[in-house]
Amino acid sequence: MPYVSLNPASNQVLASYPSWDTHRLADTLERAAAAQKEWARQSFAERAAVLRQAAIHLRLNRDRYAELITREMGKLLREARAEVEKCATACEYYAQHGGLFLQDEPVETDAGKSFVAYAPLGVVLAVMPWNFPFWQVFRAAAPALMAGNGVVLKHASNVPQCALALQDIWRESGLPEGVFTTLLIEAGDVADAIASHHVQAVTLTGSEEAGRRVAAAAGQHLKKCVLELGGSDAFIVLADADLDFTVEQAVASRFLNCGQSCIAAKRFILVPEIAEEFLARFQARVEALVVGDPMAEGTQIGPMARLDLRETLHRQVTDSIAQGARARIGCHPLEREGVYYAPSILDEVTPRCRAYHEELFGPVAIVIRAASEEDAIGIANDTRFGLGASLWTRDLARAEQLVPRLAAGSVFINGMVKSDPRLPFGGVKASGFGRELSYHGIREFVNVKTVWER
Ligand code: NDP
Repeated sequence: MPYVSLNPASNQVLASYPSWDTHRLADTLERAAAAQKEWARQSFAERAAVLRQAAIHLRLNRDRYAELITREMGKLLREARAEVEKCATACEYYAQHGGLFLQDEPVETDAGKSFVAYAPLGVVLAVMPWNFPFWQVFRAAAPALMAGNGVVLKHASNVPQCALALQDIWRESGLPEGVFTTLLIEAGDVADAIASHHVQAVTLTGSEEAGRRVAAAAGQHLKKCVLELGGSDAFIVLADADLDFTVEQAVASRFLNCGQSCIAAKRFILVPEIAEEFLARFQARVEALVVGDPMAEGTQIGPMARLDLRETLHRQVTDSIAQGARARIGCHPLEREGVYYAPSILDEVTPRCRAYHEELFGPVAIVIRAASEEDAIGIANDTRFGLGASLWTRDLARAEQLVPRLAAGSVFINGMVKSDPRLPFGGVKASGFGRELSYHGIREFVNVKTVWER
């Protein structure tokens, strides 16, 4: 299967690349392992200089990379620009703090001297998705490289031009050849890469199914693994929420990136006191969203990234309607060139519906009516996923009391769930394990080494 780059706004094929055979993979992994050993010998200051250069390069070439992202997976051009900038921020963050996070930590024991040292693990395989084709990779690569690891990237097969651009960015920023390499391999060959003695760990962002496969291969070969999988984040609106602000944020959180984000608000859980008022305002805002060419500045909803993703989404929606949910607006593909789906609200979703239990990865907000605040918390936790959740209320003290009851990796109060290099990011339950970003992220792929001297 070749890697095919296709513009989802026009269905035009942009480029295709043959996938590699196993010999090329084996040679590349061997070179990556050799390059990593040299890289690990560089000081934090030397590594930080490369990360800073990458940030400069990203900012200087922001528009060029943003256009590439938009052409290849369909997100709005302004969202793509913001994504490139965010990658630069992550590089700067780890350039500034990475050395501090990994400096030796003295510990008083019976030794003359004892301390904890953080040594790089080796080569980390990053299996990455198409939805934030630059950010997902930088989020994993910036801390891994700062820690002295090498990175080999298996990117999603629909974003090969982004995958190759990412390798060029690091090369042009002064990273030695082989320390970051894009592998054009098929998903079926990922297990071979994990099995290779040149690879010490794997990080995956993507679906639950891919996560299970990768974790199984990592377990079989006893390799460290971090998984950032899907989510079906609850957006819980309590009776005293500031509705104007809450509705504005609800639209942003659900429809950013055409709804294709793991931390998008997916389940709108409403208490009876505000349900109708919230929905009337929410519907008006969703109906006003401008669908169109993702390159055009006024567009608010572009195409989905792939036809098969739209088909899956639509099956989830039609099955849910057959199971009792109600199409409030949209809930159908748009008849126009490109992979467009109408911005949609699926109301009256109950546990009988697929949409209640599954992640809907596209521009469809699902509404679940709760009988009370207590019921809303129960519904929020009644999911296989546990990535993020948000609470909307004027009563901050009450919200803080509810935080420990929500089974999620992140809880945001009066704010949409988002990632920030300074805060750890990851989930519980079927949303995966391990953390990215902050000092927690950089310590995932290190050997936490105890040193004891008499
Ligand atoms: P996948 O999980 O299939 O793809 C993500 C990455 O994993 C890609 O690089 C893919 O490669 C790779 N991959 C897929 N299957 C395997 C496997 N068996 N072994 C090793 N690697 C594998 O996501 P899709 O693009 O198919 O999207 C499907 C659903 O996944 C979405 O609808 C959404 O629910 C969820 N998803 C979640 C994301 C998140 O941010 N958490 C991001 C993207 C998707 P290849 O492209 O070659 O198949």
